[in-house]
Amino acid sequence: MLPHGSQMTRSPWLPWKKLKKKSMSDTNDTLFGKIIRKEIPADIVYEDDLCLAFRDIQPVAPVHVLIIPKQYIPQLSLAGEEDQALLGHLLLTVKKVAEQLGIAEGYRVVINNGEKGGQTVFHMHVHLIGDRPMQWPPG
Ligand code: 5GP
Repeated sequence: MLPHGSQMTRSPWLPWKKLKKKSMSDTNDTLFGKIIRKEIPADIVYEDDLCLAFRDIQPVAPVHVLIIPKQYIPQLSLAGEEDQALLGHLLLTVKKVAEQLGIAEGYRVVINNGEKGGQTVFHMHVHLIGDRPMQWPPG
């Protein structure tokens, strides 16, 4: 017999896998895809071959930067083992950008995953928030 809750965790997984396969195509029509391709403007603070960092259009703190992979991953929960180095690179870029913007002493790093996790743009991104005192727990 399956342990309690197994059905709940297994059943959504198959469609999600299909979503990932489809999403990993070259079509990235999200807002952030357009920013990567420089089709819409953004206040870019850092860029390399793998990622881009730009200021959030509706900042929740004096420093609010989004760090995104150039490769299209819709959300963290759709990343796989093959994305390990890229995910590590994103976090090290957070550290680099924090130093560059003078907030290395303390800052908050947030990834909203999925609609229920507060995600609104479905191109995975890391929020770097700083230059003000932070409260816990977050809302
Ligand atoms: P999420 O809610 O998905 O975790 O974060 C999406 C973030 O993207 C929000 O903080 C929102 O303010 C930001 N955002 C939405 N549209 C734009 C835009 O056109 N330009 C920039 N720079 N940020 C945006």
